[in-house]
Amino acid sequence: MNYDNFPAEPFRIKAVETVKMNTRDERAQIIRDAGYNTFLINSEDVYIDLLTDSGTNAMSDRQWAGIMMGDEAYAGSRNFFHLQETVQELFGFKHIVPTHQGRGAENLLSQIHIKPGQYVPGNMYFTTTRYHQERNGGIFVDVIRDEAHDAQLNVPFKGDIDLAKLQRLIDEHGAENIAYICLAVTVNMAGGQPVSMKNMREVHKLARQYGIDIFFDATRCVENAFFIKEQEKGYADKTIAEIVHEMFSYADGCTMSGKKDCLVNIGGFLCMNDDELFEQAKELVVAYEGMPSYGGMAGRDMEAMAIGLRESMQFDYIRHRVLQVRYLGENLKQAGIPIIEPVGGHAVFLDARRFCPHLNQEQFPAQSLAANLYLESGVRSMERGIVSAGRDPKTGENHYPKLETVRLTIPRRVYTYRHMDVVAEAVVNLFRKRDQIRGLRFVYEPKQLRFFTARFEEI
Ligand SMILES: *Cc1c(COP(=O)(O)O)cnc(C)c1O
Repeated sequence: MNYDNFPAEPFRIKAVETVKMNTRDERAQIIRDAGYNTFLINSEDVYIDLLTDSGTNAMSDRQWAGIMMGDEAYAGSRNFFHLQETVQELFGFKHIVPTHQGRGAENLLSQIHIKPGQYVPGNMYFTTTRYHQERNGGIFVDVIRDEAHDAQLNVPFKGDIDLAKLQRLIDEHGAENIAYICLAVTVNMAGGQPVSMKNMREVHKLARQYGIDIFFDATRCVENAFFIKEQEKGYADKTIAEIVHEMFSYADGCTMSGKKDCLVNIGGFLCMNDDELFEQAKELVVAYEGMPSYGGMAGRDMEAMAIGLRESMQFDYIRHRVLQVRYLGENLKQAGIPIIEPVGGHAVFLDARRFCPHLNQEQFPAQSLAANLYLESGVRSMERGIVSAGRDPKTGENHYPKLETVRLTIPRRVYTYRHMDVVAEAVVNLFRKRDQIRGLRFVYEPKQLRFFTARFEEI
């Protein structure tokens, strides 16, 4: 693999965490005990952990210094003012309400901005976002462009909203029956696919015409900004901060999970420009999160987040972040491994259908692939396929999603290129003997969100 296109780590390592390296025999016992579910493996028994990039970020020396500057007063903590100033400057929104993590912000926004029966169009969905929208009587409608649903179609900005779909929804139901437009940058469930600035501008123009608000799911906004700088005409010479600022100029507010692009381990916030909405959010946050000046975070958490958000805008950081993910993808592609294309901002997805053509979807190919990857290498990944999709609550039938994938999610600033090589080698080795990967069947199937706690055995 050629390193030329991939920048070396723009940091040096100041603290290390030793990881255990189990033998294959030990891992065989561990994965059996875990019921072939990688969620049920203890972190201690994992060599390279690619389960998620949520809350798994490595903080910088400056962020750790910020932790020591936590002002843990119940009200009016100075760290809140630092976070507020930082978000106002970088995102350009007028108001910020801190929350314990992203879903806390989604809960508040859904409660104050959805009337039962209203539609909430979005570019695909995210699990917790959709949950809160529907819980508050909203009807989610997917208005992402069709290409996003095609795993093998390698086109840029697969996360864009299809304006014709949005227009049709407005024509059909009337603007007054649309709560707001929810625009995610990047689209996690589509594989971390970005949204173009052009699309944001056009969606904003259309929404303004009808007086509809737009809220961004800003969780991966910095990764999205990198793709715009790299691939959209007219942005090559702009800074990441300038791009992020322009992105948010097309929104009325946003929800944010600090556990991703803010480079911290916990936290989140809600932003808006509207004064009336802000008053409502402040009234609610007290009931669900805490005072409007901490919202479920410690003072030190807010300080680390303010510092992390600024660090995330550094070009060298975000370039390395996105290209390291792409490096793993390119490595696998060159070896003939079937992956979802193009590689997005935070993860590489293995296509389990093409990896294990000898298994049908009811034998849980992606679940088994994830279990076997752990067995072979100690690398932990996650199933995103039929197990995650669950059953139809009315008929009890399995959902059969088009995408049957294993997600290799890269934590920020945690692993090196050499770790990526190890992951790629493990996947390639497994691919060579893929016909030995056996199907699975349930021995325990929980009713809700079954992927977290289900247990399986080999057929
Ligand atoms: C993680 C995530 C959320 C939810 O944030 P939490 O901090 O986990 O509550 C919402 N949207 C997207 C796109 C996410 O990736």
